[in-house]
Amino acid sequence: MRRVYLDNNATTPVLPEVLAAMQTYFGEHFGNASSIHHHGQETRAAVERARESVAALVGCRASEIVFTSGGTEGDNLAIFGLVQSSFTQAGLVKPGQHVITSTVEHHAVLNSCKQLEASGCDVTYVPVDSRGQVDPDDVRRALRPNTRLITIMMANNETGVLQPVEEIGKVAAEADVYFHTDAVQAAGKVAIDVKRIACDLLSISGHKMHAPQGVGTLYVRKGTLLHPLFYGGSHERSRRAGTENVPGIVALGKAAELAREAFGRGDLERISALRDRLEQTILREVESTGVNGRGAPRVPNTSSIYFDYIEGEALVIALDLKGLAVSTGAACSSGAIEPSHVLTAMGLSPERARGSLRFSLGKQTTAEDVEFALNLIPQTVARLRELSPIYNKDAVGN
Ligand code: PLP
Repeated sequence: MRRVYLDNNATTPVLPEVLAAMQTYFGEHFGNASSIHHHGQETRAAVERARESVAALVGCRASEIVFTSGGTEGDNLAIFGLVQSSFTQAGLVKPGQHVITSTVEHHAVLNSCKQLEASGCDVTYVPVDSRGQVDPDDVRRALRPNTRLITIMMANNETGVLQPVEEIGKVAAEADVYFHTDAVQAAGKVAIDVKRIACDLLSISGHKMHAPQGVGTLYVRKGTLLHPLFYGGSHERSRRAGTENVPGIVALGKAAELAREAFGRGDLERISALRDRLEQTILREVESTGVNGRGAPRVPNTSSIYFDYIEGEALVIALDLKGLAVSTGAACSSGAIEPSHVLTAMGLSPERARGSLRFSLGKQTTAEDVEFALNLIPQTVARLRELSPIYNKDAVGN
């Protein structure tokens, strides 16, 4: 059975070049990068090469890159590391600090903020408009004398909507407040320049950009004091204890290199054209549909579409049975009946949010894959709607 994967915002396949680059670090070059002998030096050199590649992707110095286990750790290290660094050597959260975030963040950020609140910090959740964007003036208005950090994502995982991070960076700089941005869904899809964004911290995850799961990086601007999350050795300049995941780091370095090359080659234009074809054909051929975040700047690979009178989960399952893998949104919310917090924050009704599907393309996606999806979607939606009492009642009413 043919299977087509359009769920690259959940995770991406490791590219063959990336796999080839990392493979020898499982066996042939196995040293601990902290060992001073030949084996360690070999892997240390590979880690430092990867650090250079990742730094080049985001426009910073290699020494400002900290390798982590992924996006969740990067977000936690940025948020707790910064809030804990300010007061106590012991790394306790001092109650009374203030953090600004948005209502559409990934749970890695939202639940970190909830934990801060439980520790007595104040958090302001800035709203988004109907296109899913934060207004930088709302961020400015939310500032308080005790605001320590602004954490607002670069690209949303469900809709692909890009936030005005450069304007938010200006607001943060004017107020002399730290700025972290979760760039997990932006890396490799849009150019990232930490100087233009004027952020102090930026997190990336390997598995969203064709490196394996379980590796990521946090950019930490020189001079930013972070309290570590883990206690152990002095790895990563004492910012992240723990023996480095050398194969993962080498893979991330290679993926960063490939991502940079792709910007000059028109790969993203190809993906965006395929995404647009998918989106426009669905809107044309299937009634009562629309694009979530339409009109806002978006990453080129993502399309979130609502299908009225449909349960998103039912459509995901029906499509999967025919070989097409898509998602209702955040992968971790699969199985939960709660409508997406991102889509409801944009003003969608719970029903419309539950009837939304996320299509996310990757570097491996072909025009044939998109045609395959387009052959399945209209008929599958029609069949599910035939079974829907609400749809039939409304159709009769028409
Ligand atoms: N932030 C965003 C925007 C994400 O989409 C994800 C993963 O879905 C994460 C953070 C978490 O990254 P990881 O899976 O590497 O922990």
